[in-house]
Amino acid sequence: MLPVVALVGRPNVGKSTLFNRLTNTRDALVADYPGLTRDRKYGQATYDRKQFIVVDTGGITGDEEGIDEHMARQSLLAIDEADVVLFMLDARAGLMPADQGIAEHLRKVNKKVFLVANKVDGIDGDSESAEFYKLGLGNVYQIAAAHGRGVSQLLNTSMAPL
Ligand code: GDP
Ligand code: MG
Repeated sequence: MLPVVALVGRPNVGKSTLFNRLTNTRDALVADYPGLTRDRKYGQATYDRKQFIVVDTGGITGDEEGIDEHMARQSLLAIDEADVVLFMLDARAGLMPADQGIAEHLRKVNKKVFLVANKVDGIDGDSESAEFYKLGLGNVYQIAAAHGRGVSQLLNTSMAPL
């Protein structure tokens, strides 16, 4: 069984864009239609001669009332299945209540979690990402999934234990 890397986060943070970049497919639904990917979607990827499975999820809807009620079932399942979780955040949108809820859940599960601040193209990534450190999940990796910036540094670190 290949290692499994799950992409989780609110809708519209760029999960499908990263999935497509990692798997070189256009199969996942990239929105303009946030949250359109309803089921977990699996793709195969290779980085630095390591093969792994990437799981795309439809996203967690963002109601702040409680992660258990509102986290999409498939996102929970994807986290369960994963060896590594890439928790994606939108550096343009900033830290949202739903991000806090997802972080709370991720702190409870025994998984390797990496925080990924996406969409840092054309903005000051350092200052826009700074608040994500409040989530208490360690380092924040800045990427622009749409352009590939930062992706190999992220993979270097997140694949290292696999
Ligand atoms: P998902 O709902 O998390 O799967 O998000 P998508 O991958 O569908 O992306 C949501 C929107 O963000 C789309 O309009 C993407 O083109 C845009 N997007 C994704 N990655 C980036 C990025 O690195 N930079 C910018 N500026 N936009 C991005
Ligand atoms: Mg998607």
